[in-house]
Amino acid sequence: EWGPWQRALRAQFPLLAAHPELAYLDSAATGQKPQAVLDAVQGQLTDAHANAGRGSYPWANSSTALVERVRDRVKSFLGDPDPERSAVHFTSGTTEGLRLVARDWLAELLADGDEIVVPFADHEANLVPWLEAQRLLDRQGVRIRVREMPYQTSSGDYDPAALARLVGPRTRFVAATHVHHVYGGNMNVHLIRRAVGPAVPICLDAAQSVGHLPVSVAELDVDFVVFSGHKALALPGSGALWARQTRGPELRPGGWRGSPNTTGIASLAAALDWLEAAGTDRIGRWTVALAARLSDGLRHLDAYEVLGCQRSLAAEAPVQQRCGIVTFRHRDIGASDLGFILFSHGFMVRTDGHCQAGAGERTSSVRVSLHVYNTPEEIDRLLAVLASLT
Ligand code: PMP
Repeated sequence: EWGPWQRALRAQFPLLAAHPELAYLDSAATGQKPQAVLDAVQGQLTDAHANAGRGSYPWANSSTALVERVRDRVKSFLGDPDPERSAVHFTSGTTEGLRLVARDWLAELLADGDEIVVPFADHEANLVPWLEAQRLLDRQGVRIRVREMPYQTSSGDYDPAALARLVGPRTRFVAATHVHHVYGGNMNVHLIRRAVGPAVPICLDAAQSVGHLPVSVAELDVDFVVFSGHKALALPGSGALWARQTRGPELRPGGWRGSPNTTGIASLAAALDWLEAAGTDRIGRWTVALAARLSDGLRHLDAYEVLGCQRSLAAEAPVQQRCGIVTFRHRDIGASDLGFILFSHGFMVRTDGHCQAGAGERTSSVRVSLHVYNTPEEIDRLLAVLASLT
């Protein structure tokens, strides 16, 4: 059942079809684009291309309508149960989306003595903006306290019990990450709402989950979802920020402040349609199965250490892979050398510290990240090369 399903989807990626000798294993950095997305881009530029939010001739109207339509599409993709009371802003990606929440919304929310909880070991895009907001407020004489989101030390998952103890009457905001881009953990985000209570707004960095796994704002009960279109198979520069407008002030990033990236927005709509038709739950199960195949294989190779969430399990337990990311180190070979060796065999992987905040000695690892176009054969070939290096 899986073989034909997956082959039919993979065949829709022209760049991969043109290079059967290469294995693209870097989808956490950016996704490849299916033909439907390329067609949408061309259609947007050749059917009725004009700036959106200005002008009242037909091409301009059609661009404006596109932007409004895709706002609704983002809401429906995220399972928004109350689209009348939420807003979608288009951004250039997760980094800009998180900065927008920090700059245009958080500063307005906070008063002297308030506390926020933010992740110190996630992507730096989900730490720097909150610290900048603190500095900005500090200059205005408003002192806020920034607390570290508690992690379970052995696994890298969040620790909801410790979070519940950390939360107090002055806790006004929590920032979290849905899927960790290095640990490969589908973090304990669904437990955060219970830990912090009904009133505290939660902002979710969903850069590694939207397009990879089902993401439901109703289920997670979060207030912001921020993601990058390019990691969800759309064009670079096509991110979105979904904001519920019921906890805290309304987010007002300025409406039609600039010219929207209409081409990117068209690509985002096509990517979300494609992902939904393929089935995000099936995509998730496929990539998790491939990642488990890899991390299982690595555990039989003494020279490698797998980082992150699988480490909390007893050695004999099956690997608990919960997303399509596996990050590992070789005992003797440095990560960039290993990346170089792997590319000589046709494998494209990410090597370095992965923009993890405060990475310190955690830097320098190899990350394999998967999408629906990857295959078990690629994983087996990769494991064979890795085994030859022990
Ligand atoms: N957060 C996470 C978890 C990420 O993985 C990334 C990209 N690696 C980002 C934020 C930043 O995304 P972008 O570069 O698209 O803004």
